[in-house]
Amino acid sequence: MTTGTAAAADTAEYAEDTALLTAEGLTKHFPIRRGLFGRTVGAVRAVDGVDLRIPARRTVALVGESGCGKSTLGRCLLRVHEPTAGRILYAPDGGTPVDLAGMSERALAPYRTHIRMVFQDPYASLNPRMTLLQIVGEPLRVGLGLTGKDLEERVAELLRRVGLRPEYLRRYPNAFSGGQRQRVGIARALATRPRLVVADEAVSALDVSVRAQILNLLKDLQDEEDLTYLFISHDLGVVEYMADEVVVMYAGRVVETGATDELYGAPLHPYTEALLSAVPDPDPTARRRERIVLRGEVADTSRVPSGCAFHPRCFYARDRCATEVPALREIGGGRTSACHYAEELTLRGVNAL
Ligand code: SF4
Repeated sequence: MTTGTAAAADTAEYAEDTALLTAEGLTKHFPIRRGLFGRTVGAVRAVDGVDLRIPARRTVALVGESGCGKSTLGRCLLRVHEPTAGRILYAPDGGTPVDLAGMSERALAPYRTHIRMVFQDPYASLNPRMTLLQIVGEPLRVGLGLTGKDLEERVAELLRRVGLRPEYLRRYPNAFSGGQRQRVGIARALATRPRLVVADEAVSALDVSVRAQILNLLKDLQDEEDLTYLFISHDLGVVEYMADEVVVMYAGRVVETGATDELYGAPLHPYTEALLSAVPDPDPTARRRERIVLRGEVADTSRVPSGCAFHPRCFYARDRCATEVPALREIGGGRTSACHYAEELTLRGVNAL
C-alpha cells in the first residue's frame, strides 16, 4: 500500500489520462423519517446513480444549482457521507483499483491521506482555538505520525508553499483575512501530499479580488504537486478558468459531461445552456448575451419529477419528456448528454448573444 508521504513520488509514472478515481452508480439517499417511532416515509435522492471519471492531474468540475447533489457527491467520495450504493474505484498507482465505498473504516484510514478536501467557508472550517501549527499539523500527526521538530518544519514549509509566512505558526485563525484563512485551509488539505483534492465552493465566500489569487495558487500547486482536483462550484465563470472537464448535475443525476471549451461553446443539454447564459462576459464592453431565466425552482430530490427531472423547467420539453427518463448517453467527441433531443437542439453557448 502506498503511504501518503510516498504518494507524490510515483505520480510521475501516470499516463496523462489514467483515471485516478472512478465512481460507478454512486448513490446517496437520505431517509425521510416521521412520527414517534421515526418510520421511514420516503427518501431524499441527493445523488442517484452517478458515474464519474476523474483523470489523474486534471481538474474536473462538478456544477449545478444549489441542491443538485454536487456537494453530497463530493462528500461521498471522501466517505464523509456513506454511499447508499455504488463503487468508488481509486487507482493510486495506475494499477488495479481499490473500491473505497466497500472498505471498513480501518482499511480506509491510509487512503484518507490521499484524498483531501478544501471547504467553502474559511471562517467556519478552521477551529478558532487552534494555532496554525495545530490546524495544518493535525493531519500530519494523525495520518502520518509526525511530531516535534519534524512536524513544525513540515508545517512551516506548507505555509510557505501557500504564500504565508512560517512565523505565523503560533497564531490563531482570527488574526487572518478570509483569503489568508483559505490559504491555511489549502495548506491543511495538502499536508499529507494527497493525490486528489476535492475543493467544494473553495472561493465562493471570498471577495472577487482575493478569488483570483486563490485560484492561481490552486493552479500553481496542481503543477508543482501533480494534483488532481474535483472542483465543485455553482460559479461557471470560475469553472471555465479552472476546469479541463465539466460534469453538470441536476436533481442528483449527471445531465451532461464534456471538455470545458467544447461544453461552454456548444452545450448539449438545455439545463447547461441556461447555466451558461448567466456567465458574465469577460469583456464588459461586449453586447450582453441574453440570460435564460428558468421557470420554477430546482427539482426537489424527495419528489423528483417523472420522466426527465428537468422537464417542468425546460423550454424545449415535448410529450415524452414527462414520461421517459432520458439516459446519459454518448453523443460523440467524448461528450455525453441526458436529453432525448440532444442531437436535434441547437443550444447557445457562451459565445452566443
Ligand atoms: Fe428538456 Fe426533454 Fe431534453 Fe429533458 S429530455 S432536457 S425536458 S428536451
